[in-house]
Amino acid sequence: MRYQDRAVLVTGGGSGIGRQVCRMAAAEGARVAVGDLDQARAEAVAAEIREAGGEAQGFAIDVTDPASVTAFVEGAETTLGRLDLLVNSAGIREIVSVLDLSPEEWQRVIAVNLTGTFLPSQAFARRLIAAGRTGQIVNLASTLGIMAAPNRAAYVASKHGVVGLTKEMALELGEKGIRVNAVAPGVIRTPMTERYFQDPEMSATIRGIHAMNRWGEPADIARAILFLGAEENGFMTGSVLTVDGGWTTG
Ligand code: NAD
Repeated sequence: MRYQDRAVLVTGGGSGIGRQVCRMAAAEGARVAVGDLDQARAEAVAAEIREAGGEAQGFAIDVTDPASVTAFVEGAETTLGRLDLLVNSAGIREIVSVLDLSPEEWQRVIAVNLTGTFLPSQAFARRLIAAGRTGQIVNLASTLGIMAAPNRAAYVASKHGVVGLTKEMALELGEKGIRVNAVAPGVIRTPMTERYFQDPEMSATIRGIHAMNRWGEPADIARAILFLGAEENGFMTGSVLTVDGGWTTG
């Protein structure tokens, strides 16, 4: 129960990795603010947690919109009574060659993945500092924040940006007791990747890129996120923790 009486905010909490973080944080005693562009999904995850005896509230949030982000952080603080951990899990990706990538698609992926990590993190850190409190931020980078893969220029650039932002915010906020870390997952079975999982050939190829010869599960990543965000883990900041079944060892 590392998260007893702690308040955890999750963007992209309505699906995949974010949803699993919400559920596992609640199981460890956290009160959870589930934020998602898809309000129905956010409400559904919050309802699921309440049915299991936990405390959670769903919020509609667009991480690319500063006003929406501020409303989420302030609303969560009012509802949960405090702020402790922010997990930035909202994300999208494109699958198109760099030669065919349109400016609109580039901007959308950068807006959601990179600006959409910066805005909630800034709003959260400002509120913590105003309240005289310490706290943690965990960002979703990717193995593609460390290396490249074909047809993912905007995604790869955005996740490299998330790694840089993680280090920068850790540097600037360390003295204030705000730790900022990131996880770099391998390929995880979520709605984002389900299409590949359902294609037997693709599924086997993806399994094979991981040294452990399996797909990752949302719980593999949620466990690492909750480790990074735990209060006891007080000297770890600016780190990018690979949780990729050994993909980047090769
Ligand atoms: P997912 O598609 O299951 O969930 C992403 C959630 O983000 C969705 O509920 C979606 O509605 C929400 N979202 C999208 N745009 C938003 C916006 N503008 N504002 C608020 N919410 C928004 O994806 P996932 O697989 O759980 O991915 C979560 C994070 O992990 C992403 O940042 C992704 O890039 C990263 N990641 C995923 C994998 C993987 O293999 N699944 C690997 C590495 C990193």
